[in-house]
Amino acid sequence: MYKKLFIPGPVDVLPEVLEAFAKPQIAHRSQEATDLQKRISENLQKLMYTKNQIILSTSSGSGIMEMAIRSCTKKRAAVFSVGAFGDRWYKMAECNSIPADRFKSEDGQPTTPEMVEEALKTGKYDVVTVTHNETSSGIMNPVYEIGQVVAKYPNVIYLVDTVSSLGGVKVEVDKCNIDICLTSTQKALGLPPGLAVAAVSERAYERAQTVENRGWYLDLVGVYKKAAASYQYPSTPTTPHMWALDYQLDRIINKEGLENRFNRHTEQADIVRNWAKKHFALYSNEDYLSNTVSCIKNTLGNSIADLNKTLSSRGYMISNGYGTTKEKVFRIAHMADRKTEDLLALLKEIEEVWGL
Ligand SMILES: *Cc1c(COP(=O)(O)O)cnc(C)c1O
Repeated sequence: MYKKLFIPGPVDVLPEVLEAFAKPQIAHRSQEATDLQKRISENLQKLMYTKNQIILSTSSGSGIMEMAIRSCTKKRAAVFSVGAFGDRWYKMAECNSIPADRFKSEDGQPTTPEMVEEALKTGKYDVVTVTHNETSSGIMNPVYEIGQVVAKYPNVIYLVDTVSSLGGVKVEVDKCNIDICLTSTQKALGLPPGLAVAAVSERAYERAQTVENRGWYLDLVGVYKKAAASYQYPSTPTTPHMWALDYQLDRIINKEGLENRFNRHTEQADIVRNWAKKHFALYSNEDYLSNTVSCIKNTLGNSIADLNKTLSSRGYMISNGYGTTKEKVFRIAHMADRKTEDLLALLKEIEEVWGL
């Protein structure tokens, strides 16, 4: 039986979006493919509030994370981590022999502009990485304020992972001074996994041009920039995803409307937070709560694994904690095209199962 997924990716996909996948194959060097990529790029620029060039990658979001940190770090990267996905940037630096330092916040706490300023003042770094929305802890970091700090250092490239927020939360890339803003399709964008996208600034390309050993498959400037300049893809892209993304972006921007979509996410986040505070407690600093996923303390100490088993038989699935917090917290995602009535139904089910 299929379950309604309240996990922070992959998310449920609307039937009409799934249908948009089912098209005959097209040649990836055809004018049709170019037109498709152009439409997607222009709509992503609207969604990301940017004039920067858009690149697509037939990988999950992690592919562009690795591309970004590897292509842009010449001196040393300052990696700000508030959880599992911040740590991933650091791991990528390590595995690629890229000099990097990790600045880790306490559990459930954000990356602050002050922390970034402190690090950049040393003059040691030419790249900053930030996780906008840390899916493991339900923290949303202040990327606007951090962007103002980074902007004071003209040689520093600002890389932001918006994998679990973009499409559900407003991220104005140009206003935030973000050089590379990246996301995957299977989270707030509401598509199946398999494609990642990013907006890339001219500064990021200029930096990458000076970095050696960028590889080939994930070479930001030598390969991706060149192709994207004519709305083409360097190798063979997943054209079915492109059709579906094209459809979904049009739906998000022109049918639902961006503000409506962002407001819906805010409303649903409020519902879950209030419910969580009534019955449990929130895990993360309440001044920096995510609008797409809530991380809730398991104050009753009931088994989350058992809860999920029962929910599963009723057609729902939520997430336990990530890593060390496995049974200590549970996470409810409220992103992409989730209907509020379904969210309310889920909360009712949990109340019933646990006798709240
Ligand atoms: C899911 C997630 C990732 C990893 O994305 P993939 O598409 O699985 O590679 C990275 N960062 C955050 C914040 C995420 O939620």
